[in-house]
Amino acid sequence: RRREELATAMQPAQTRDGHRIEVVANIRNADDALAAVAAGGEGVGLLRSEFLFDERDQAPSEDEQARSYGAVAEVLGRGRPLIIRTLDVGGDKPLSYLPLPKEENPFLGLRGIRVSLDQPEMFRTQLRAILRAAPLSDLHIMFPMIATLEELRAAKRILAEEQAAGASETSAAASVKVGIMVEVPSAAVQADILAAECDFFSIGTNDLTQYTLAMDRGHPKLARQADGLHPAVLRMIKLTTDGARKHGKWVGVCGGIASDLIAIPVLIGLGVKELSVTVPTIPAIKAAIGRLSLSECQALADEVLALGTAEQVRARLAPFAE
Ligand code: PEP
Ligand code: MG
Repeated sequence: RRREELATAMQPAQTRDGHRIEVVANIRNADDALAAVAAGGEGVGLLRSEFLFDERDQAPSEDEQARSYGAVAEVLGRGRPLIIRTLDVGGDKPLSYLPLPKEENPFLGLRGIRVSLDQPEMFRTQLRAILRAAPLSDLHIMFPMIATLEELRAAKRILAEEQAAGASETSAAASVKVGIMVEVPSAAVQADILAAECDFFSIGTNDLTQYTLAMDRGHPKLARQADGLHPAVLRMIKLTTDGARKHGKWVGVCGGIASDLIAIPVLIGLGVKELSVTVPTIPAIKAAIGRLSLSECQALADEVLALGTAEQVRARLAPFAE
């Protein structure tokens, strides 16, 4: 197994019948980016920018953010994709200096893109800092927790204004790709509509599971039932890939199940083209892809979509996790 991982680690990942799947990393900073590349990561599928905003008493300046994003971009260079997610706080991730209202249901309140739309100056500062990394990298900007077309349009309008205003003297900044996290059921259900107005989707299965099953992702008594392999969640993923395909857009997964060997065949079978995973799992995920064929994954996906429970899905998929 180890030898097999070494053989595939530095190659672009593909199934044994030659179908390309990009294996990229979830990271926070330039050190993580170095580790990801060393492990065979083909780029970054999720830069969680909130780590820059955490544990301090004011938001980072545009220059500080630009240095941090630029350092990651330099590690990756222009040949590897870099997907920077705009600030994703609220709910489970509060910030001391952001006076968010006390909410009865913080996971259903100001969270993800809604915080940025509520704090447009902070959002604009972040977008300007991100755009400064465009000449150094194959830059993609991703908005978290988009639930409606209005939210996507509002975020894109602000981005377009910042591109027009300045940072985009460079053509690189004008041509960044723009995508959304699909992590709310409404986005999965309307994927065919949203796909017309963005370049890619990345499915956040951690939140998509919580919102599909109405089970708090951190609840100790629900942890076992809040399963990303629940057939209801898999049907949401299928809605997302079907919607994207209609517009020729690609779909990745950056939630926790992308790093889980048991999930790889069903994700590939559902039409996922990119897996953004934790750095230590990169070699094993690449090797696992090499053992699969697309047609067997597609048949398997059809089969498990028809099952009733997560337990049945896990039993069917167990052989793929050794
Ligand atoms: C997710 O929800 O699956 C995701 C990748 O985002 P986060 O875990 O940061 O909420
Ligand atoms: Mg999320």
